[in-house]
Amino acid sequence: MIGSNVKVMIGLESHIQLKTESKLFCSCSTNSTKSKPNENTCQICLGFPGSKPTLNEEAVRKAIALAKILNCKINEYSRFARKIYFYPDLPKGFQITQYDEPLAVKGEFSIEQNGKKKTINITRVHIEEDPGKIEYIGGHIGTAQQVLVDYNRSGLPLCEAVTEPDFENIDEAVTYVRKLFHLLSYLDLIDPNQEGVMRTDANISIDGGERVELKNISGSDAVEKSLKAELNRQMFLKAQSKKVERETRMYSEETGTTILLRKKEYEEEYGYIREPDLLPIIVNESLVNEIKGQMKKLPEEVEHEILTKYKLPKQIAHQLAFKRGLYEYYIECAKKLKNVDLLARWLVGDFLKCANWHNYEIEHCPSVERFLELMQLIEKGKITEREGKELIKKMFDEPKKSLKELQTKGEIDLDSTIKTVIKENQKAVDMIRSGDEKSINFLVGQTLRKINFKGDPNEIRRVIQKELEKKSEK
Ligand SMILES: [Zn+2]
Repeated sequence: MIGSNVKVMIGLESHIQLKTESKLFCSCSTNSTKSKPNENTCQICLGFPGSKPTLNEEAVRKAIALAKILNCKINEYSRFARKIYFYPDLPKGFQITQYDEPLAVKGEFSIEQNGKKKTINITRVHIEEDPGKIEYIGGHIGTAQQVLVDYNRSGLPLCEAVTEPDFENIDEAVTYVRKLFHLLSYLDLIDPNQEGVMRTDANISIDGGERVELKNISGSDAVEKSLKAELNRQMFLKAQSKKVERETRMYSEETGTTILLRKKEYEEEYGYIREPDLLPIIVNESLVNEIKGQMKKLPEEVEHEILTKYKLPKQIAHQLAFKRGLYEYYIECAKKLKNVDLLARWLVGDFLKCANWHNYEIEHCPSVERFLELMQLIEKGKITEREGKELIKKMFDEPKKSLKELQTKGEIDLDSTIKTVIKENQKAVDMIRSGDEKSINFLVGQTLRKINFKGDPNEIRRVIQKELEKKSEK
């Protein structure tokens, strides 16, 4: 394993885009999927002189919920600050963030790796606004021919969660990012389909040397790749007895290595000042309790509920609880179907398999009504398990067709299937014609195989005989 003979220290700072209707300090929409670049902007998020920010309460509530997931202590009193720097994505010339008085501090988050539990200490959670989005056309930051800025992202509500450098290997860091992302999606605090919804900066050092910051990594796979590349680079320097310098780098997909962005600046260089246009955030215990009370259930709570209420096997309960959408789908179905055990097995079995195959979220899957119609046929023994499996596949493939249409489709197909089988097995056909009656069984078998054994063999035999007669008449 890379880095197994050195002491690795990794700390993560994740910038998490909270799921809100409007931006952090103005009423512009956060949803830019159907907008043109720079359409969702106003004088506040474009930083016009004299414009004043108004804090979005929904963002603060979600930030508090996030801090609770990380088991942080919520500060009764927190304040915004201006982080002053110049960059084209920041038209105000400063970013509104929190500095020395953050929303929450001193949290703990437990991760599990190969059955071993570990607690990661959380330094702080604070709220800040997102800068705009820079697009490099025709290359990356060092090589682009053209640079465009889209301010639709400017002012989106972010929560930054900072860990202590507690990760001792890359796998732990990746596990943390995956678990946190899953939980935040599960509790509806983020929109997992939003581009760049969780962007991570990672600090990594080996053997107590200088730490290097890797910027703006989107997604857990990218966290893994970038950290591996940077660890390799540091180990290579060490092998040559060279020093690792404190700097900011980024991963390049093209070269598979990290490239230098800048020599690391220190926090003091930003010249933070208190934000004079915003009041402090005051959070009392009753507000925290209210938010906690409104939070959706955690996966382990859902699993416990499934186990006690529906008495399902633990493995199945675990699978159902892992995806909130699937669990809610199950609850809906269970209201109308007696055999909840059968239902659960089909959901985590063929239903989930098809959903994964199509890469569908639950809202794109067949509706509860359609699925229940099928489950009732299975429950009453009106179709075989094999037919059920086929029908589920078809429901995903042809979402507009009714169950009846999907069922009858097989019969329509029978004629053409038999024609194909006859064409493909000319030798058997010749044997039948020369009087070997038994060879017709072979054709029946071949046809049944093609239609997944969901036809009546006698009926198939009859159609084959008719088809062969037709042919010999010609
Ligand atoms: Zn705005």
